[in-house]
Amino acid sequence: MTSALDYLWPLVDAPRPMVAAHVVAAWPAGVHQRLLDLGFLVQAADADRVICPECQGHIEEVIACDGPGGAVRFYVACPEVSRAHVPATARRQWAVNAPRLAEALAATLKLTGVCTELVPNRSWRLGCTTWQDATRDVVLARGLHWDDAPTVRAVIVRARKPIVFVPDAKPSDDLWRGRVPPILALSQVATLGDTGMEVDPLEIVAAVQDTEARAINSNAGVIGMEQLKVMIRQQVKAEVKASLSDDLLVAAYRQHGSIRAAAAFLSQQSDQDVSKDQVRRAVQRAGGVAAVLNDQSSDSVVRTTPSRKRGRTAKKIDRPNT
Ligand SMILES: [Zn+2]
Repeated sequence: MTSALDYLWPLVDAPRPMVAAHVVAAWPAGVHQRLLDLGFLVQAADADRVICPECQGHIEEVIACDGPGGAVRFYVACPEVSRAHVPATARRQWAVNAPRLAEALAATLKLTGVCTELVPNRSWRLGCTTWQDATRDVVLARGLHWDDAPTVRAVIVRARKPIVFVPDAKPSDDLWRGRVPPILALSQVATLGDTGMEVDPLEIVAAVQDTEARAINSNAGVIGMEQLKVMIRQQVKAEVKASLSDDLLVAAYRQHGSIRAAAAFLSQQSDQDVSKDQVRRAVQRAGGVAAVLNDQSSDSVVRTTPSRKRGRTAKKIDRPNT
């Protein structure tokens, strides 16, 4: 289901976080007003350059001319009609109010501490949360996939075991030069309720667990999330019947630690309907939940590493014929 927030996240992640009148005009009814009501968009100074209102085919600088009765009228040059009138409403534009967004996020996550700006209009420390007796800072950052992201990273990594929210695009793991922090995309975890933006604080727990599981898996030689995604896509392309193999179903379960989450992930990645039952049956065929989670070496999707000792396969357990 489309939410007004779906229209916000790409703007927050844009180097120039503004939206023009002609773009807003194409949004579904109510979306723009809702974002204004939430304070996530605020009206900015009128645009000096607009899309041609006459042919919509080009963006031009606005020219002011004296109109009748001393009023100023605005035009743009247009190859179709030579001079296209620009109504005042066409010059309107709105800017993302990122500090307001940071405050709203801090509130819905029930964080402690004060929300402060770390890098002007780029990164905020929202507050802190406690996870397994450790205090961790929760951070919001824009543009972690832009060229200048290392300057923002340098500030984020000074926070206490940071947990990072981004609007939409997650940065590549390479950005972090070492331990990758838990990263949550608001486009995936934020919803819009009656009272405003909502993010379940449990999403933070899930992200931390996911990051820890990835670290364990990469140490154990098990395929990582990105590799798993590539393998799913390759298999869907290659298979005529386009059904995913047990190996991938089991690997997805191992990544997510939940039948439901694995089914949702597989459905999303493969563009087909993968049911919880399919995942459950694959896990059963692989020896059941305990065997799948505990015996990393018993599955063929385990990445073979030269250092892996052959003796480990001797631990393979007998599987029930279910
Ligand atoms: Zn034109």
